[in-house]
Amino acid sequence: MFAELVGQDQAVDVLRRAAAAAAEAVAGGRGTGMTHAWLFTGPPGSGRSNAARAFAAALLCDDALSADRGCGNCGACHQVEVGSHPDLTRVRPEGLSYGVRQTRDLVLKAAGAPTLGRWRIVLFEDADRVTEAAANALLKAIEEPPPRTVWLLCAPSPDDMIITIRSRCRVVTLRTPPAEAVARVLTERDGVPLDMALFAARAARGHIGRARRLALDEEVRRRRADVLSIPASLSGVGACVTAAERLVKTSTEEADAATAELNETETAELRKVYGEGSSGKGLNKGLVRGGAGALKELETLQKSRATRIKRDSLDLALLDLVAFYRDVLAVQFGAGVELANEDRRREIETMARGSSPEDTLRRTQAIMRCRERLAANVNPQIAVEAMTLALRSPGLA
Ligand SMILES: [Zn+2]
Repeated sequence: MFAELVGQDQAVDVLRRAAAAAAEAVAGGRGTGMTHAWLFTGPPGSGRSNAARAFAAALLCDDALSADRGCGNCGACHQVEVGSHPDLTRVRPEGLSYGVRQTRDLVLKAAGAPTLGRWRIVLFEDADRVTEAAANALLKAIEEPPPRTVWLLCAPSPDDMIITIRSRCRVVTLRTPPAEAVARVLTERDGVPLDMALFAARAARGHIGRARRLALDEEVRRRRADVLSIPASLSGVGACVTAAERLVKTSTEEADAATAELNETETAELRKVYGEGSSGKGLNKGLVRGGAGALKELETLQKSRATRIKRDSLDLALLDLVAFYRDVLAVQFGAGVELANEDRRREIETMARGSSPEDTLRRTQAIMRCRERLAANVNPQIAVEAMTLALRSPGLA
C-alpha cells in the first residue's frame, strides 16, 4: 500500500524500516522496540492519512515478516483498506473540534489488547482539531502506552500539536508531491488523459484529491474558472462588490454540495439503527426517544461540520487566487518556471506587464489578510469585499 503514496520516497523508507524492525522484534520475542506515537505532517493533500494507513497495513499485514509487508493483497491489508480491521480504529473529527468526552472513549478503546495478536492502532486524522482538554487526555494516553498500542496522529505541521504531545511523537514529514507524479497517478489509476491530468495536477498544486476532482468533475473546473476570472474583472468598486458576492456564493455552493451528500447518508443510517422506515410496529418508546436524541446530536455535529467545510472551501478559493498572483510575480521576475495556472498564461502575462512586483506583493498580502480575518470569524462577505477592493488595479479609481 506504500505504492499509493506519491512522491514520498523518504517518508516511505522510514516507515518501511520501522515496520520491519517491529515485526522482527515481535517475532523474536525481544519486546517490541516500537515507537508508540507517530505524527504524520505535511501540507493538505500530501497524503498524511494515506501514509498512516499504509503504515498501519504494514504493521498488521498477514505477511508482516516478508519484505512486502503491507502487501495490499492479504486479508488484513484489505481490512485496513476498507476500514473494517478490528485492531484499527480510525478517527476523523467531523466538527470544528474534537471534544474531551470523545477522546476519553477513544483512549479507553485504544488501551485494549489487540484482537488478532500484533498491534492495536488508532489512526487520528486532523488531530490538530482536538480541544485543549482533549489534548490533555490524549497526552496521558501517549505518555503511558500499553505495550501493543500505536497512535498515528495526522496534522498539517508539528506546530499544530501541543509541544508535550509533539515531543513524544516520532514525526514523519510528507512533502507536496511534484505535479508530474500526481499527473501520472491520475492517468494510471483514473484513466485521465495526460493533458487533463497535467493541467489538474498543476492547478491543484500537488493536492491529489483536489487534482482528481478537477480532472473528473466539470463542475469543479467551472468553479475554479469562476474564481480565477476575478482578478481581471475588478475594474471598479461595483465590480469588486459583485466579485466578492460571487466568490462567497461559489464556495458556499461547493460546500453545500459536499455537505448534503454526507448528511443524507448519515441521517439515513441513523434512522435505520433506530428502526424508522421499517414497519414501525413494536418499537418501544425508549428507543424512539433515544433516536430523537441521537438525531438531534447528529444535526448539531452536521451543522458545525457544515461551517467548517464552508470555511475550508472559501479558503481553498483564496489559495487559488494566491497561486494566480504568484504566477504573475514569477512572470514579472522573468523566472522561467512552470506556472500553476498555465492555462491562463496570457491573462497572467497581461497583468504582469500592467503592474509592478510591489503591486503583486501587496495584492497577495491582501488575500492573506482576508484568510486571517475569516479564520477569526469575520463575516465572509465583509472580509472578501475588503480583499477584492484591495486587489483592484491601483490606477483605476
Ligand atoms: Zn498484507
